[in-house]
Amino acid sequence: MEAITPTQQAMNLGTETAFAVLARAEYLAAQGKDIINLGIGQPDFKTPEHIVQKAQQALTDGAHGYTPASGIPALREAVASDLERRYSVNVDPSLVLITPGAKPIMFFAIMLMGEPGTEILYPNPGFPIYESMIQYTGAKAVPIELKEDVGFSFDPIKLLDQVNERTRLIILNSPANPTGGVIPKENFDILINGLKKYPKTVILSDEIYSRILYDGKKHFSLLNYPEIRDRLIVIDGWSKTYAMTGWRLGYGIWPKALFEYAERLAVNSYSCPNAAAQYAGIAALEGPQEEVSQMVEEFDKRRDAITESLNSMPGISCVKPAGAFYAFPNIKNTGYSSQILQERLLEEKGVAVVSGTAFGDLGEGYLRISYANSLENIHIAMDRMRTLLEEK
Ligand code: PMP
Repeated sequence: MEAITPTQQAMNLGTETAFAVLARAEYLAAQGKDIINLGIGQPDFKTPEHIVQKAQQALTDGAHGYTPASGIPALREAVASDLERRYSVNVDPSLVLITPGAKPIMFFAIMLMGEPGTEILYPNPGFPIYESMIQYTGAKAVPIELKEDVGFSFDPIKLLDQVNERTRLIILNSPANPTGGVIPKENFDILINGLKKYPKTVILSDEIYSRILYDGKKHFSLLNYPEIRDRLIVIDGWSKTYAMTGWRLGYGIWPKALFEYAERLAVNSYSCPNAAAQYAGIAALEGPQEEVSQMVEEFDKRRDAITESLNSMPGISCVKPAGAFYAFPNIKNTGYSSQILQERLLEEKGVAVVSGTAFGDLGEGYLRISYANSLENIHIAMDRMRTLLEEK
């Protein structure tokens, strides 16, 4: 009997290897192996208590039905107020789409803009779902090369050279997964100015790590360019900022011309985000923010520890990440490929990390190490990694 297959489009879909690493790490742990997981990108902190209580209360009060597809009005307003507080920008709550996690925003944006004959620019190395979804739509995936020697930012002049009349969408992500890089405002200035020549090119700015920045820096949002607001989609959410990855709550700010289509995709796929989680989302934005600052302070200590440790290992050099909670060390002088080093670290030393190649071909020669784990575990993991490299 012939095997059934889905569409060619479906077979072009990629995946997020971090989840496969997580599954393997959990399997090995269930076998009794001592595993330290520096593979997955989620805070190891608990969701602040007042947020949890708000969801419990919402369920007790009867928030167990469908909500509007784009989210409850109070939450959409809370998002607009939060953005106004953080960036002094005006956001129309009717252009805020609340989603189950932030991921559907990139899914929708790429679905709405990509088709054969068009081109989409995406960061490489970058979050793997961008390239995967571009391939799904049949658009040409054009990599924006992120370079280590400039803190994993891009060259805006080179980027502008890659734009043409077929460029439907440009995807940007700062602070970035997997590199921890933060794009300087000057680079955005040059890019946005150059894009005046291409008024139909949409920009998708993934700002999910906007609250996780170090050295006293504040996030610069692309919402701060009024001239692109009619073609800008911004991704942000609760997953990273409030340690809420499993709640599945995120949002996108859409241009007026696209909002209705994004909302239709929501209705066509999941109807609405989880009701109780949305009430929790209001509590998160409007409640005390101390726990967010404490979490970032804790990440900062780990960032120092992990970069120092990596830089003292044979064959490794590591740029200090400016944001998010990932280190992206260069391993080119270790004698290992990224994939082999990922496998040996997990299978022989019980340390889960992700090969740079999981984030695009330009990730070869790097590993993504998440420091969303305790300092104690980070020290043990780094000792084990050092042992592996010294054995070679
Ligand atoms: N964008 C980036 C760059 C991410 O790293 C992630 C999560 N790993 C997401 C979006 C998705 O976030 P969520 O869990 O809210 O869907």
